[in-house]
Parts: sequence; structure tokens; C-alpha cells
Amino acid sequence: MKFNAMIVKEEDGKYIRSIEEKDINELPDNDVIINVKYSSLNYKDALSAIGNKGVTKQYPHTPGIDAAGVVYKSKSDKFKEGEEVILTGYDLGMNTPGGFGEYISVPASWVIKKPDNLTLKESMIFGTAGFTAALSIIQLEKYGLTPESGEILVTGATGGVGSMAVAMLSESGYNVVAATGKKEKEEMLKSLGASQIIDRKEIDDESGKPMLKPRWGGVVDTVGGNILVTAIKSLKYGCSATTCGLTKSHELNLTVFPFILRGVNLLGIDSVEQPIEVKENVWNNISQRWNKDYVQQIYQEVSLEQLSEKIDLILKGQIAGRVVVKI
Ligand code: NDP
Repeated sequence: MKFNAMIVKEEDGKYIRSIEEKDINELPDNDVIINVKYSSLNYKDALSAIGNKGVTKQYPHTPGIDAAGVVYKSKSDKFKEGEEVILTGYDLGMNTPGGFGEYISVPASWVIKKPDNLTLKESMIFGTAGFTAALSIIQLEKYGLTPESGEILVTGATGGVGSMAVAMLSESGYNVVAATGKKEKEEMLKSLGASQIIDRKEIDDESGKPMLKPRWGGVVDTVGGNILVTAIKSLKYGCSATTCGLTKSHELNLTVFPFILRGVNLLGIDSVEQPIEVKENVWNNISQRWNKDYVQQIYQEVSLEQLSEKIDLILKGQIAGRVVVKI
């Protein structure tokens, strides 16, 4: 059986994207074949689409680390044909053909039954970005974050993870300060519930001081580098920051002082390799705890054919909110 997929090919050191027909027999032999209905665009997909070998080693390749769809064939007792399922992370879209194609073939151990009160499309509006935002909030709360903690900083606030974090934290009653490089998206961030919008330059301290005036009761950082360094130096006593991304930089030039004098915590967030039970728990949280209304204003929907231009934009940091791909 033939189906359409985005294929990234390496030609003379360049990575070319096209939509092509593939045969279902070309997919890896795995427990479950899923007919993908929706996927979503994450920064990592864009890295895979431009030949980043840290993400994808072999080309031709179909990116797409997220997929939501219907089980087409199953060799596993866990899943029946026709069942609605979601999948984020593990090796999907990295070196396993991913959600930017109409069919994927994956181990049953990667797949989650879609929670009843989420549609397939809503699950992909959240996608890895929403999952990562939810995991960041759950971790911060495990380390004591409450609405009484004070101002919570979200960096990269208009990005996929950032916009989800702003909306989810606000809905949970937190006082969210959104840091962005996109002044023109102030209204969007306010409508997601941010109480204050600041320019990301304001939280990119170059003084070199080991600690700064304490301000944040918690931080969801998506960009890394000196912005995360500044945020950690500005955490209040005993408070925590999460780190999930490196859009600004993978470097972290810090001293131990904020940790040993203010008892702050830096919490690493990985959405990819979490045990499946943790993923199920986070997805159930997403479906039950957070109202889905705001996700309606946070996304744009594109076809597989329109996806390539969005990949170029996310690489330039120019996408606000989430891009859902109708497959
Ligand atoms: P997006 O591209 O959607 O968002 C990133 C945002 O960062 C941009 O929208 C922009 O927001 C801001 N930004 C862009 N360039 C810079 C810069 N030079 N300096 C400071 N800020 C910048 O990406 P995602 O939200 O999908 O992912 C964010 C990061 O998290 C990525 O590095 C991604 O790989 C990582 N990630 C990690 C996961 C994990 O499991 N650990 C899971 C998901 C994502 P603004 O203009 O508002 O400042």
C-alpha cells in the first residue's frame, strides 16, 4: 500500500525536503502500524529536517517526533485495530520514520491510548511541547511550587513549550511573567494569561555577578545559555528552575553560589525517554487538569505540503505557538 510522507534526502551535502509516495512495506517491522491523522512541529523536527546528526543519523528520513492516529494493524495484545492512540518521543522521527507521514510502524511500548477527553487534534496541539510544559510544571510542583511562590518566569514564551507553559501555569493560578523577543506578540501572551510581558534582553544579565536580586518563585526555561544563568541567579531562596531547551545556547556558565547560598534547584526535563507509565500519567494530567479552551488560540493548522515553510520559520525562532500538521 502506498502513502504520502515528507522525505528529507541528503544531496551533495544539502538536505532537500519533498512530499513523496512510500510503500508501507518500507516501514520498519514493529508491533503496531498507525494511520497518522495529526502530527505537530517541534524544534527538533526542524533539526532533523536540516541534517542535524545529533537528531537523525541516516537519510533519506521522515521527521515527526509526534503522532496521533488510529491503529491500522497490531501484533500486540495492548492495542486493537481502530483504536485511537498518541505517541511522542522515544525514537519516533529521529531514526525511526516519524509522524510527517500517513503511516508509522512502532513498538507497542512507545504507544499510549488517547485519553477520552482529548481529541486526536487537541493531543497534537499539545504534542511534545505541551507534554514538556506539563512535565516542567509537575516537577516544579514536586519541588514546592505553589501559586503563593510569587512570580513565575517563562522564557521563550511565544515558542511551543513556552506558550503552553504560560497558558497552563496561568490556568493553574500562577502569576506568570513571560519573557519574549517578539514584542508584537504581547497581546497573544496576555490572552494566554501572562500577567506581565518582558523583553528577553531584560533577563540576559551581563554583569558577571554570581547572584542577582531574588525575584522568581519558579522558572520554566526553554532557551538555555545566559538567560537560564540569569534566571537561576535571580531565583528566590529554595525555589527551582526547569531546563528543557537550548534555543539560545547549550552552555551554562554559572558558579555554585545560587545553589549553596540560596538552596535553589535546577531540574532537568526530558520528554523523550520518560518511562511509558510516566508519559501516561502526564497525558492524563493534560487531559484532566487543564481546560482545553486556550489551545484553540495557540495553534495554526497546516498540511504536509505547507509544512516545509514552517520548518524554515521555526529555525529562525519566528513561529508563535504551535503548528499542527493535518496528515
Ligand atoms: P520553538 O522554536 O517553538 O520556541 C523557542 C522560542 O525560543 C522561540 O519562539 C523564541 O521565543 C525563543 N528564542 C528563539 N531564539 C532565541 C534566542 N536566540 N535567544 C533567546 N530566545 C530565543 O521551540 P520549542 O518550544 O519547540 O522548543 C524549545 C526548546 O526546547 C528547543 O531547544 C527544543 O529542542 C527543546 N525541547 C526539549 C524537550 C525535552 O524533552 N528536553 C522537549 C521539547 C522541546 P520568544 O521570541 O518568545 O523569546
